[in-house]
Amino acid sequence: MPIIKQLSQHEAQKIAAGEVIERPASIVKELVENSLDAGATRITIHIRGGGKQLIQVIDNGCGMDEEDAQFCFAKHATSKLSCVDDIEKLTTFGFRGEALASIAAISEVTLITRTNQHDSGTKIFTHHAHINNVTSVSCPVGTDIRIESLFDSVPARKKFLKADQTEWHHIAQLVHALSLGNPHIHFVLTHNDTPVLNCPSTPSLQERCTQVWDYKTSNHLHAITAKRETPMISIEGMAADHQIWRYDRNTIFLFVNGRWVKNQKLVSAVIKGYGSILPAGRFPVACMFVQVNADTIDINIHPRKEEVLFKHPKIVEQLLETAISHMLNKNVTDHLIQPVFPTSPNHRTEPLPDEPDYFDLQHTTLTAYQNKKITREPTTSTSSMQSWIPPSTTALTSKNNAVLLPEERPTIQQKITPAAFTYTLIGNLNKTYLLIETQQGLTLIDQHAAHERILYERFATRFEDVVTIALLFACTVTLSPADIALIIPHLSLLHAHGIIAEPFGQECIVIQSVPVHLKHANLTELIYSFVGIITQHNNLSIDEFNLKTSHALRAQMACKAAIKAGDELSDIQMHEIIEQLHAGENRSTCPHGRPTMWQLTIPEIERFFKRRT
Ligand code: ADP
Ligand code: MG
Repeated sequence: MPIIKQLSQHEAQKIAAGEVIERPASIVKELVENSLDAGATRITIHIRGGGKQLIQVIDNGCGMDEEDAQFCFAKHATSKLSCVDDIEKLTTFGFRGEALASIAAISEVTLITRTNQHDSGTKIFTHHAHINNVTSVSCPVGTDIRIESLFDSVPARKKFLKADQTEWHHIAQLVHALSLGNPHIHFVLTHNDTPVLNCPSTPSLQERCTQVWDYKTSNHLHAITAKRETPMISIEGMAADHQIWRYDRNTIFLFVNGRWVKNQKLVSAVIKGYGSILPAGRFPVACMFVQVNADTIDINIHPRKEEVLFKHPKIVEQLLETAISHMLNKNVTDHLIQPVFPTSPNHRTEPLPDEPDYFDLQHTTLTAYQNKKITREPTTSTSSMQSWIPPSTTALTSKNNAVLLPEERPTIQQKITPAAFTYTLIGNLNKTYLLIETQQGLTLIDQHAAHERILYERFATRFEDVVTIALLFACTVTLSPADIALIIPHLSLLHAHGIIAEPFGQECIVIQSVPVHLKHANLTELIYSFVGIITQHNNLSIDEFNLKTSHALRAQMACKAAIKAGDELSDIQMHEIIEQLHAGENRSTCPHGRPTMWQLTIPEIERFFKRRT
């Protein structure tokens, strides 16, 4: 009894469709590329339910006559290639005639299209890859294609689709890329009937960047060009300086011969170009176009043409890296030589890896701590950091200009905490490390990492003790429409952490209240990190998502609220840190995993000085 059967053509086509159609965003890509190939100058994209309910692409391109409109759904139907040898010469996006056939195999399609040679257009409805209905309609020149019931006929694939928000995020990212790659085309994007992007045609990439991102980002962009002969490679684009960054790689857009590609090596080359001027874990904003001779790349290696294979990958990567670093040398070196925060001698000019000092100068909080007054109950040594409240009149600031009330002045150097932790404060090294002598020897405590750990533990385990305060001036944070859409479903998570934020229009989030520790923190940056955190964990199950995002959010809150390296501390504040760190959990590392302290034992010191072996 034979067990091998041949799949019906329709079933085989549904399987093949999986190669081209990974998710709703793949359909959007194929449809928009068809519109571009059709010479459209305006492309409108309507999405509903992350693309699962509706994907509609309307263009003003050349359209199709009735015969082509029916034929375009056939397998290998293409107007762009007639033999394999043509592939190398292609300048269009499509060339295999696979997209519409694949899409029709896994959805219901309504196509309305007209050419300028015909007075009326054609309307076609397909179901299970069969053309059901063809009628003549009146419509503008161009093509309007609607995709519905996506993957209804392939339940096995449908269940792999992610939450609407995740699918929407992929679509928004793609449309950003298509818009950046084609500034001369007017793009309109809506989601669930809400306008998200409207980018009228412009000759300028910088203006397109403003339309897609925002003014603040585009004001920090610098033009980049680089060229070399044999092999011919030319690079053009815009990349941001050190003052703008993101928490993921999603704003590094790379195009090769006009095609948006996801080439990790090229992305790494861009990041390398920034050297160490961005802190660890932060990523630049860049939109770069690489042009090479068509015969030095293979664009046929990926079913959805998202990747390219270079004949000389290293040369391309090197040119990209140096183009970026030249731009930075030209535009940024001066800033880095000058202190970025010129107002106080307490400011350091070098960022620590997890302290994003440069991100948003308007909201900088480096000075925040200095303006806080210490109120301290004289008899206990475990009063909380929470009692570091902002001053009403006088501020206790640095060693040099501190205004210490007599009863606040530490009278003894040696402290005994309730947990019988005995230590002597020796001093503060480089306004960064607290030096203490204990029975074991010498301990260095990183003041930022330690305070971060203390605050993290408070946010994680004793959040009910944390006081939330209404901000006198609500803080408005501007985000891209895609990021707004991403963050809105998760505002309750911020809420649970004492951050009361509401959407405000299409592009803003307004923060009304925060935990008291964050009163002076850079909230804009906190919201940016939160977007990065959601993006990073969006593919997880709900439970895991909640767990990981909560941890990451608390860590960010702690980081933003904590004192920084370079902040000058009074003795009282140093004692607070030492004692609370000692009294808390997980005291040896900060929430990011960096050590909070380093102990040199007496025997280690003795061995170093050769007093013992
Ligand atoms: P390919 O783009 O690889 O040729 P597709 O399946 O995407 O294959 O499209 C098949 C054909 O349908 C195209 O070659 C083109 O002739 C026609 N077509 C598809 N979309 C459009 C459109 N928006 N406007 C005009 N023609 C289109
Ligand atoms: Mg195509």
